[in-house]
Amino acid sequence: MDISNIILVGPPGAGKGTQAIMLREKLDALYISTGDLFRSHLSNETDLGKEAQKYMSAGELVPDKLTINMLSQELEKKENGHGFILDGFPRNVVQADALSNLLESKELSVDIVLFFNVPNDELVRRLSTRYTCKVCQAPHNLNKSGDNVDPTCNLCDGELYQRTDDAPEAIKRRLDVYEQETKPILNYYDQKDLLTEIDSIGTVDEVFTRVEGVL
Ligand SMILES: [Zn+2]
Repeated sequence: MDISNIILVGPPGAGKGTQAIMLREKLDALYISTGDLFRSHLSNETDLGKEAQKYMSAGELVPDKLTINMLSQELEKKENGHGFILDGFPRNVVQADALSNLLESKELSVDIVLFFNVPNDELVRRLSTRYTCKVCQAPHNLNKSGDNVDPTCNLCDGELYQRTDDAPEAIKRRLDVYEQETKPILNYYDQKDLLTEIDSIGTVDEVFTRVEGVL
């Protein structure tokens, strides 16, 4: 497989995270989720983590430069002959530009940008039926709303709850932000001839087969 450096883009609920894990195993690539990266810097109280914490405590957005520095450090872990999979970054065109500069400085480049496409009404349906276990944090899908009597986790019997960002109003807000900020990066990468759309309707395996088909 020639393609090795991959960026994953898609709206919340597109199943990007699951595909990322399958892809990492198949390609034996360095997987970088910026969400995980942030949490690890914060909990390990690294210099970058402490700096990020200052902004977060003040209720301010963490500057892109900090995230870029985290990514820069992380990319050093990439082994020769192996690629990277980037999930959660960039989220807007300014970040996409900053990422291009970072990769250039490391003599790296992006081979393909996979866009996991799911229609909005399907996203709302998926997200609004998503519940999380209070004990083990495992995600669950409760399909038929209305008859969710006493939902419990099938892994640990813990109580299930709906995260506040999975509530209907929050979902609408998340999708709006996605439309405004993330969609322009699809054009950005399309102009560079890197964008490939993956129809993400169907089972996890069906979607992964499509991913394998384009790599
Ligand atoms: Zn559980």
